[in-house]
Amino acid sequence: MQPDQHLLRIPGPTPIPPSVERAMAQPMIGHRGQEMKELLKIVKEKLKPIFGTKEDVLIYTASGTAALETAVVNTVQPEEEVLVIVTGAFGERFTKICDEYHIETHKYLVPWGEAADPKQLASLLQQHPNIKAVFATFCETSTAVLNPIKQLAEVVHNESEALFIVDGVSCIGGTETKMDEWGLDVVVTGSQKAMMLPAGLAFIAASKRAWDVIEKNPHARFYLDMRRYRLKLQEDSTPFTPAVSLLQGLKQALTLVEEEGLENIFYRHEMMKNMTREAFKALSIPLLTSDKNASPTVTAVKPGDFAPEDLRKIVKSDFGLTLAGGQQHLKGQIFRIGHMGYCSPADVLQVISIIEIGLQHIGKHVELGTGVQAAQATYLKMKG
Ligand SMILES: *Cc1c(COP(=O)(O)O)cnc(C)c1O
Repeated sequence: MQPDQHLLRIPGPTPIPPSVERAMAQPMIGHRGQEMKELLKIVKEKLKPIFGTKEDVLIYTASGTAALETAVVNTVQPEEEVLVIVTGAFGERFTKICDEYHIETHKYLVPWGEAADPKQLASLLQQHPNIKAVFATFCETSTAVLNPIKQLAEVVHNESEALFIVDGVSCIGGTETKMDEWGLDVVVTGSQKAMMLPAGLAFIAASKRAWDVIEKNPHARFYLDMRRYRLKLQEDSTPFTPAVSLLQGLKQALTLVEEEGLENIFYRHEMMKNMTREAFKALSIPLLTSDKNASPTVTAVKPGDFAPEDLRKIVKSDFGLTLAGGQQHLKGQIFRIGHMGYCSPADVLQVISIIEIGLQHIGKHVELGTGVQAAQATYLKMKG
C-alpha cells in the first residue's frame, strides 16, 4: 500500500475535492470584516436550492448532532409530546436527545433495514392527538435506508398539527430534497457527508410554521438558539466566531455543486447506488435493504457466509480502502459502503474490484470481475 493514499468509502466523513482543500488553505480572514460578509452573502443563497427552500439556511459551527439537538430545543418544550420515527441508530439519537430534555417521547420503532411506513405513522398520530413534533431520519445511515420523507410529511400534515422535523445529515446534497414543496418544517444536515467538506459545520432550515413555534418557544437555549443565527444571517454575519476555513471551503464546494447541477448530482448518486447494488446481486451477496428502500448515498451489505470484519481488515491493509462496519446489533453483521459527495462511478468500480480481491483473500470465492461487470453494465445502461 502506498503511503498517503486513502480510499475513504464510509458514510462520512467523506473525501474532499482538491479545489475545496485549496480553498480551506487560504490565509485566515477577520470574522467580522467585509470579506466574511461577502462570503456569507454568497453561501447563504447557494445553500437554499440544496434544501429545496426559500427560507434561511442557518450555519452553525458544530457537528451534525448539534443540529439535531438544535431542532429539538428550538421547537419543543419539556413535557410536550413528540413522536420519533426510529429506523436505526440515528432515529434513536433523536429519542435520546428528547429524553435528556424531559420531552414525552413516543417511538415508532421500525425494524432495522426497513423504511418507515406512512400508514403506520398515520395510525400512531391518530392514537396520540397531542403530538407537537414528529422526528424522522431521511437517510438512516446505520442501515442505508432512505425513508419516504415526502409521503411521511403528507401524513403528518393530514393527521396532525405537528411539525415535521427531518435529519438529513447523510443525504442532503446527494438526494432530492424539496423542503418547501413537501412541507418539511425543519431540515438539518452536517458538512462531512454529502456536502464534500470536513466535519464542523451544521446547517438548519425551518419553515414559516416552524419559525412561529421557535420564536415563541420559551425553552432555555443559548448557543443553539436559532433566533440568534437568523438575525445575524440576515446581516450576513454569525452570532459567534464561525469556522472561517470551513466556510471558505463551503463556498468552493457550493460552486462545484452549481457547476455540476443538482439534477446531475442526484443522478450520479442514483447511478452509484445502482452500480453498487447490482454488483453485490451479481456476486450473490445479500444486501440489507430492498431496492425500494435503498439510499443513494450509502449501501449496507449483509453477507451470510463470511465475516464483514475480515473483509474490512484486508481491503484496508492491502489497498488503504476504508469501509464502514455495522452499528449496535449490526456490528460484525454488515459492512457499509459510502458513495456520496466527492465520489463518482469510477470510484465505485474501484471499490467493487478491490472487494472482489478481498473476498478471494478471506476465502470467499467469487468469479473475479462478476461484480465489476454488473456495475459496468449498470453504468452503461444508466448513462444511456
Ligand atoms: C452522521 C450523522 C449524524 C451525526 O452527525 P455528527 O456530525 O457525527 O454529529 C446524524 N444523523 C445522521 C443521519 C448521520 O448520518
